[in-house]
Amino acid sequence: MSCEKLAKIIYPNIEKTPEYYAEKYPKRNLKERAKVTRYAPSPTGFQHIGGIFSALIDERIASQSDGVFYLRVEDTDQKREVAGAIEDTVAAMQYFGLNFTEGMISSDKSIGNYGPYRQSERKEIYEAFAYDLIKKGLAYPCFCSPEELDKIRESQVEQKITPGYYGEYAKCRNLSAEQAIEKIKNGESYIIRLKSPGNPENRVVVNDLIKGEVSFPENNQDIVLIKGDGLPTYHFAHAVDDHLMGTTHVIRGEEWLSSIPTHIQLFKMLGFEAPKYAHIPTIMKIDGSSKRKLSKRKDPEAAVSYYNEVGYPTQSVIEYLLNIINSGFEDWRAENPYEDNTKFEVSLDKMSKSGALFDLVKLSDVSKDVIARMKADLVYDNYAKWSKVFDKDMYELITTNEEMSRKIFNIDKEGANPRKDFAKWADVKEKVFYFFDELFEDDKVVENELPKKMDLSEAKHIIEAYSKEYNFDTDKDTWFEELKAIGSKLGYTANRKDFKANPENFKGMVADVAAAVRIALTHRSNTPDLYTIMQILGKEKVYNRFNRFINE
Ligand code: GLU
Repeated sequence: MSCEKLAKIIYPNIEKTPEYYAEKYPKRNLKERAKVTRYAPSPTGFQHIGGIFSALIDERIASQSDGVFYLRVEDTDQKREVAGAIEDTVAAMQYFGLNFTEGMISSDKSIGNYGPYRQSERKEIYEAFAYDLIKKGLAYPCFCSPEELDKIRESQVEQKITPGYYGEYAKCRNLSAEQAIEKIKNGESYIIRLKSPGNPENRVVVNDLIKGEVSFPENNQDIVLIKGDGLPTYHFAHAVDDHLMGTTHVIRGEEWLSSIPTHIQLFKMLGFEAPKYAHIPTIMKIDGSSKRKLSKRKDPEAAVSYYNEVGYPTQSVIEYLLNIINSGFEDWRAENPYEDNTKFEVSLDKMSKSGALFDLVKLSDVSKDVIARMKADLVYDNYAKWSKVFDKDMYELITTNEEMSRKIFNIDKEGANPRKDFAKWADVKEKVFYFFDELFEDDKVVENELPKKMDLSEAKHIIEAYSKEYNFDTDKDTWFEELKAIGSKLGYTANRKDFKANPENFKGMVADVAAAVRIALTHRSNTPDLYTIMQILGKEKVYNRFNRFINE
């Protein structure tokens, strides 16, 4: 009874009970196999790629089981809140196609029946549960000042015992309700702590869906439930929310793994069934000879905005992350090249238990495949969309030469081995610039792009001869026959055997002649199919470039 009195003094205006909330947020009416997951960021900064990684797992686990994926904003640490962070998160989710079915859709709007989905708007709910715990003697007000807590900690460290507020060090846990009421009446400030019944000599064993069986000593710390500002801690808020919102699977960063005993205890004391937990490895990167966390401060690729800026298609990033989530994705993709990646079944138990390595080179490889699978028109459309924002000059060029640009993106597209030279949209300019006189004009030929034994004057000599004899309006086979014929007159053979047997009889092979033509037209030794390039450039440009090369 006196605990109830204490609870009433702390929360005089409580009207609603845990039963009321149980009724208000009934069990979700879903199929048995359906999983309910959530992405629960704290709005303390802009989205990190690790957030997309985590949300992607949530989204796939929910959608592949016909479940629910929702977005909850965990903003109980209001000092750390950054303006615009919620909008940034929502925009990042949408940008990557991570469709949440419920939750915050902006800083002041949400969808779904289990809200509010922003913790700072759920104060009344947490209070009802804190009230209930205090009433039952399972939680209590603690009046220790930060200085007192520091002192306790210092002496524990000195004595080499576990630091914290527990057992005999938890000075306020044994205050009677009357004593506590007295202090409150005297205006002493306080926070609310859990009265932990745990004994660290016992162990809690949990089957984490990624890490496997994990075992920890039971929690005996009287953790804080409600802070001095009246808002809950993460521990308390997540327990209340995940319960009321019907979360079945808490998928979160492995930094929370060690809180498992506290959370299991908290759920039990609140009378809730604990959700299943899956702790995902932190995204790491190789730096020199060691591994470290991908850092927002040091690594541009940690920021979600980076991928848009340099132009990795969202699908590339998603597929790369799927690769990290389940290494079997790569084989699946090879077997199902044109399937939508949502058809790949993500399994938590196949995930790497330790650090997930993030590697831009691998991302680029994945992305080259993704772009290679896109039809030319889609490549054009995506590039136009990207360049409109990030490379206005290129946007102007490709849209004023749309027909040609679509053809450029179609070179070597069809067939068994489609071109794979674009990893991101920022790569396109360097690979296509030579089609545009405006860009080619300022570009200089680089002598070392020529075949090894060919100098610039020999290349000019070839082009002079070639430009006189070559016919623009022919099909590819005839074009090649002509190239061989011209080459052979100049001392280049089409026959590898002859060349190998008597290299001194030839200046080189026909491929060297083709290389000279390629360089005259594009200034690059490595391009897609030369005949097609020439056809797209058109007769006039081809002759102009030959002339320019001869006279350069
Ligand atoms: N707000 C917590 C964080 O950002 C979320 C942890 C969780 O998903 O439960 O780390």
